[in-house]
Amino acid sequence: MKDYPIYNTYQTPSWCPGCGNFGIWYALKNAFHELGLQNHEITMVFGIGCSGNLSNFLKVYGFHSIHGRTLPVASGIKLANHKLNVIATSGDGDGLGIGLGHFIHTCRRNIDITYIIHDNRVYGLTTGQTSPTSPKGFPSKSTPFGVIELPVNPLALAILSGATFVARGYSGEIDHLSSLIVQGIRHKGFSVIDVLQPCVTFNPSYSYPFYNPRVYKLEDIGHNPQDFEKAFKLAMEFNDKIPIGVFYKTERETYEQASIELGEKPLTEDDIEDINIEEIFEELLA
Ligand code: SF4
Repeated sequence: MKDYPIYNTYQTPSWCPGCGNFGIWYALKNAFHELGLQNHEITMVFGIGCSGNLSNFLKVYGFHSIHGRTLPVASGIKLANHKLNVIATSGDGDGLGIGLGHFIHTCRRNIDITYIIHDNRVYGLTTGQTSPTSPKGFPSKSTPFGVIELPVNPLALAILSGATFVARGYSGEIDHLSSLIVQGIRHKGFSVIDVLQPCVTFNPSYSYPFYNPRVYKLEDIGHNPQDFEKAFKLAMEFNDKIPIGVFYKTERETYEQASIELGEKPLTEDDIEDINIEEIFEELLA
């Protein structure tokens, strides 16, 4: 397997052997290499969960945020310095449970961030509870008689909420996933990549033997990612066949481009010598 140790820290991943997070870790490094990004040119925001441990194994600028808040933190970073390449990652429990509202609002804002969802359909770090993407009927420690609700569909939600790049990858297809991450980072606007990430320990029913015979690539059927209706229809397909690839892609003004306060120059490059911070505090606290 290709590896680019320039992006490794001195720490060895602590994930369970066979965990799908390894595939995402390699795919990210492949993508950084292909894009020619140096360590200091990458800013990543991590969530809470097994996916968040990635913050220890990637040598980039990083912020290990609080549960469900990766996207607000990533948005703040992007707005402070919109020249940065900002990538946010979180698990399905983190990003689609407590963080679901932020997900929808980031889609409609179209901020130029790439968001990778480590979607293992379970809470892994807390040893196996039902998550927002657990399928109906799924038995777990928190739902021993099976989940009653329907799962959240992150792709359909992203398409309908205004994300301008919506894709699904599979951590068992690392080269394909790397290519999706490259496209997502290059895309100007909010790019969402939902990754089928087996949790071999706490969700073995949705592991490699389940996904390998089912996944197929949208490129192989000639899907046109600009076809909104077809993209939505494909996003609803998750049974004997599970599509991976770019579902939807369009161009729309980003939040940063539309914001008159930001302009060409990042806020971090503004000259603040003439600002009297004490006056501002006095005005705000009056
Ligand atoms: Fe991976 Fe699941 Fe182990 Fe967490 S508990 S490291 S998601 S296999």
